[in-house]
Amino acid sequence: MQYYISSRNKNNAVTGHEAIIKGLADDGGLYTPLHLSFHINAADLLHLSYQETALLILKGFFPDFSEEDLKECVYGAYNERFDNPAIVPLTRISDAHLMELYHGPTSAFKDLALTILPRLMSKSYAMENRNDTIAILTATSGDTGKAALSGFADVPHTAVTVFYPHVGVSPIQKKQMETAEGSNVCVIAVNGNFDDCQRMVKQAVTSKEVLDACDGVVISSANSINIGRLVPQIVYYCTSYAKLVNDGVIACGNPINFVVPTGNFGDILAGWLAKKAGLPIYKLICASNTNNVLTDFLRTGTYSIHRDFHTTMSPSMDILISSNLERLLFLASDYDDMKVRTWMQDLQTEGSYTIDDDLLHTIQSDFAGVWTDEDTCSSTIHDLYEKEKVLIDPHTSIALSGLRQYRKETGDPTPAAVLSTASPYKFCRSVYRSLTDIDDPDDFDAMDKLNALTGVKVPKNLADLKDKPVRFHETIEVKDGLSRIAARIEEISHDNH
Ligand SMILES: *Cc1c(COP(=O)(O)O)cnc(C)c1O
Repeated sequence: MQYYISSRNKNNAVTGHEAIIKGLADDGGLYTPLHLSFHINAADLLHLSYQETALLILKGFFPDFSEEDLKECVYGAYNERFDNPAIVPLTRISDAHLMELYHGPTSAFKDLALTILPRLMSKSYAMENRNDTIAILTATSGDTGKAALSGFADVPHTAVTVFYPHVGVSPIQKKQMETAEGSNVCVIAVNGNFDDCQRMVKQAVTSKEVLDACDGVVISSANSINIGRLVPQIVYYCTSYAKLVNDGVIACGNPINFVVPTGNFGDILAGWLAKKAGLPIYKLICASNTNNVLTDFLRTGTYSIHRDFHTTMSPSMDILISSNLERLLFLASDYDDMKVRTWMQDLQTEGSYTIDDDLLHTIQSDFAGVWTDEDTCSSTIHDLYEKEKVLIDPHTSIALSGLRQYRKETGDPTPAAVLSTASPYKFCRSVYRSLTDIDDPDDFDAMDKLNALTGVKVPKNLADLKDKPVRFHETIEVKDGLSRIAARIEEISHDNH
C-alpha cells in the first residue's frame, strides 16, 4: 500500500484517500508519499490518451481506490469541458515547446487538478461511509479560487469558501470569482495579500473557535497542500513527455527539462514526483517573477521572507511563502521530520531558515532557480508575438524568459517544455499593453482589442464573463479571518441539519 506521512511527524501515516479528506495533517504538516511504490516506465506512456495516462498515474499513487472509482473520476473530469480533445496540447516555438494547460473550464492550469479533486473527495468519503459536509477552505492568488468554485459547485456534501487578496488579483480573475454560481459557494475578499489568506486557512484547522463550530462538518483544503491536487498534476508531465517522443523531439528514455512558473511550488513539485517515479527529467527549472524568494533559496540554501512583496503582472506567483517546498525538504532530506519542523518553526518566528549544504546540493541536482523582472516579462510576450505570432500570458512569459536565462547561464542544451499555465485573456490589460504599449484600464475593453488585434479566440467562459451578475461583495480584515471562518462553518453546519 502507498502511505502518506506528515512532513512534521513521520509516524503520522495515512492512506491516499484519508490524506485527501484531511488536506493538511493535524500537526500542520503536509502529507507526502512514503517510498514510491509505483514506477513510471516512459515506453508505457507513448500510446496512451490523457485519460488513460491519468488512470495509470492515479492507480499508482492511490492504490486504495478501486479502478472503477478512479475511472469515474478521470472520465468525469477530463472530457468536453476542456475545449481541446488532447486536454493539454503542445505548441512548438523556435526554442521550446509550450504545454497549454489552460483549456479547462476556467482557463488556468488549476483546472487540471480541480476538475478531479471534488470527485476524488466524494469517493474518499464514500469509502469511509461518512456523511458529514466537507467545508473546503481555499486561499487563492487568483486562479485556484475560480477553479475550485467551478469544480465544487453543487457537489453534494461539499461547501466551498474562497479567500482572495482584495488588491492583487487581475480584474478578470476577480470577476470570475464574484460571479461564481452554485448554492454551496462563498467568496470573500481579504484586505491583505495571498500569504495572509493562506495563513488564515492553515490556522483554521487548529483554531479552537473554528473547530468548535464544526458540528457535522470537516474542514479540508483545495489548495496544493492537498495531495489530491498534486497527483493529478503529475499526469501532464507524462503526456507531454510522450508527445515529444512521438513527435521525434527526443528519443524514448532521454531526458528533458521542464520550466515551471512557480508560486506555491505545487506544480513543480508534481514534476519532481514524476521524476522520482522514473520519468526521464534532467532539470526542473523554477521560474519566479520579482518575488524571487525561491530563486535565492535554490541558489544559496537560505529561505528568507525579509524582502519587499511585489504586486506584478503575474499575480498567481506573487507569493513569499511557498507551502509545497516543505514537501521537497522532507523528501529530499530522506524524511527528516525533526529538521523540517525546526525550519518551519524558524520561518514562522524568524522569517527565515537555512538548510545544510548536503541537502542544498541534492536539491540543486534536480532544480535550477531563475527569475525575471517586469520589463523582460512584457518584452518576451511582445517579441514572441511579433516573431512567431504566438500569444502567451505573463506567467508563461516568466517561464519562457527564465528558460532563456538558464540556457545562457548553463549552456545546457537539453530540450525543454515550458508550462503555459493560463490563457492570455485572463490578463488582458498586461498582455495588450505588452503588445501595443497602450494601457487600457478596462480589462474587458482590452479583451476585445486583444482579440481584434491577434485573432486569437477568447475562451467562452471569459467571453461570457462581462455580463454576468456579481453575487459576492464581501471584504474582511485579516484579523477577522478566523471568526469569519467560524461563522461560515456554523452556517454550513446548519444547512447540513
Ligand atoms: C497557480 C499558478 C501558478 C503557480 O503554480 P504553483 O503550483 O502555485 O507553483 C503559475 N501560473 C498560473 C497561471 C497559476 O494560476
